[in-house]
Amino acid sequence: MPWKKSDTAIPFCKVCFSPIKNHDFVSFWDPEPLVCPKCRMAMNPRKHEEQIGKWKAVSFYVYDEMIQAMLYQLKGCGDYEMAKTFLHAYVLYLRWRYRTYVLVPAPSFKEREEARGFNQVEAIFEELKLPFCHAVTKVDNIKQADLHWKERQDIGKHIVWNPKANVVGKRVLFVDDLLTTGATAKAVCRLLEEHKAKEVRILVMARTPKKEAEGHQKLKIP
Ligand SMILES: [Zn+2]
Repeated sequence: MPWKKSDTAIPFCKVCFSPIKNHDFVSFWDPEPLVCPKCRMAMNPRKHEEQIGKWKAVSFYVYDEMIQAMLYQLKGCGDYEMAKTFLHAYVLYLRWRYRTYVLVPAPSFKEREEARGFNQVEAIFEELKLPFCHAVTKVDNIKQADLHWKERQDIGKHIVWNPKANVVGKRVLFVDDLLTTGATAKAVCRLLEEHKAKEVRILVMARTPKKEAEGHQKLKIP
């Protein structure tokens, strides 16, 4: 029998593909779960608030092996369905919490986005159904993961403001899939303030464990 996932009565976990039989413990705020209880436990959601520069930031997961694998599935393999799994259980809360904000997605390099067919940050946050403002783009195909900590602090050089964007007097929420050193977030938040946003905040799906982010240096192979 051909496998159908959309028109079957039993929902399948988007991570491990097993049927979601019993989800009573989350059904109150997540009546149509996308991941099974086992995967949800493994994803280990933990809402974390912190200060990035002068801006308040909220993250929902720690960037561990599980989240890393899921993000790879989304970004590396182009599995669009994976995008919804991260914030699905918090969508109602987030939609209400940030109802007066416009979302500014992290800058991406257009050509890489076109190759993948979608922008992974927008894919993760579009369920919030809040307006997007494409205020920033990346001017070259630079990958944060390839940069040393010091080079990451100069990331602002690679980010440009979209002259059509208008954030004057608006509450703006910078959104990204991953927060590591916070260099990108800070660079964008600075630009948003320069362009007269009324209030600027940060919301990220996952955060690299702090020690790793600060001391992270890429190993050089001799
Ligand atoms: Zn599962």
